Amino acid sequence: DKAAFHALIHEPSITKDGRKIEIAANIGSPAEAEGALGVGAEGIGLFRTEFLYMNRSSLPDEEEQFKAYREAAERMSPKPVIIRTLDIGGDKSLPYLPMDPEMNPFLGHRAIRLCLDRQDLFRPQIRAIMRASAYGSVHMMFPMIASVTELREAKALVEEEKAKLQAEGIQFAAHIPIGIMVEIPSSALIADQLAKEADFFSIGTNDLIQYTLACDRMNEKISHLYQPFHPAVLRLIQMTADAAHRANKWVGVCGEMAGDAQAIPLLVGLGIDELSMSASSVLKARHLVRGMDYAKLREIAQQALGLDTQEEVLRLLEKSQDADN
Ligand code: PEP
Ligand code: MG
Repeated sequence: DKAAFHALIHEPSITKDGRKIEIAANIGSPAEAEGALGVGAEGIGLFRTEFLYMNRSSLPDEEEQFKAYREAAERMSPKPVIIRTLDIGGDKSLPYLPMDPEMNPFLGHRAIRLCLDRQDLFRPQIRAIMRASAYGSVHMMFPMIASVTELREAKALVEEEKAKLQAEGIQFAAHIPIGIMVEIPSSALIADQLAKEADFFSIGTNDLIQYTLACDRMNEKISHLYQPFHPAVLRLIQMTADAAHRANKWVGVCGEMAGDAQAIPLLVGLGIDELSMSASSVLKARHLVRGMDYAKLREIAQQALGLDTQEEVLRLLEKSQDADN
């Protein structure tokens, strides 16, 4: 198996009937780009920048961030690198960024909400990402977007920083794609509206499942209720994918589901264009995609959307796999 997978490093991720799926890797530091390239990832679908901010005693400045983002962009070039802006709060806190105690940190002052309130923190990160865009194919992505207003506010800050960089004579890519994580049910429900203003979507299933089912993704006691194949989750994914495509935008998945062998056929059948996962899953995912019949998976996904429970969806997926083997 290992050798068979290895042979796929330079092969495209394409179904038997010709549908191309982008298989990318998630990273938390520029050094991890090497591992992603080593398994033939077609890009970085999620660069979690939190790690640059964690385990240290002060905020990383623009220059330090620029170097990290540039390194990732250069290592991956010409492949795309999607840099997600700071997703702090919730379970992730910073020693040098005092936050008031919150009753519900996962519903609290986190991610894009915090960044929009703390422009002293957000603007240097935007500048660092823009500057890195001169060295590769950099995309910017905002986490935890719940409304069009937040996307507009964040994009307005990007425009302001672009104007300043231009005035300072600093280079950047003029048309850097700006996308959002779809990981809050509200954003899936208004995906048609968000698609007018975002260049791409990446569905964060870890949080989307948690928020849709009101089910803490870390709580063992309710882990049986944390259901990636719950009909409500599938509908939200479908809505997001369809809205993206109607607006001629692409849609990826970068939560754990993207690397899950059971979920991949369903996600492909729902029309997902890109799957971003841990580097260790990339070759297995490519192997799966290359054995797929997209037309058939579209039908199976439509059937899955009509089922009542996760159990029924899983049974359908198992049955259709058995039929293949
Ligand atoms: C997600 O929520 O699915 C996601 C990819 O982001 P994170 O796991 O960093 O919250
Ligand atoms: Mg998330």
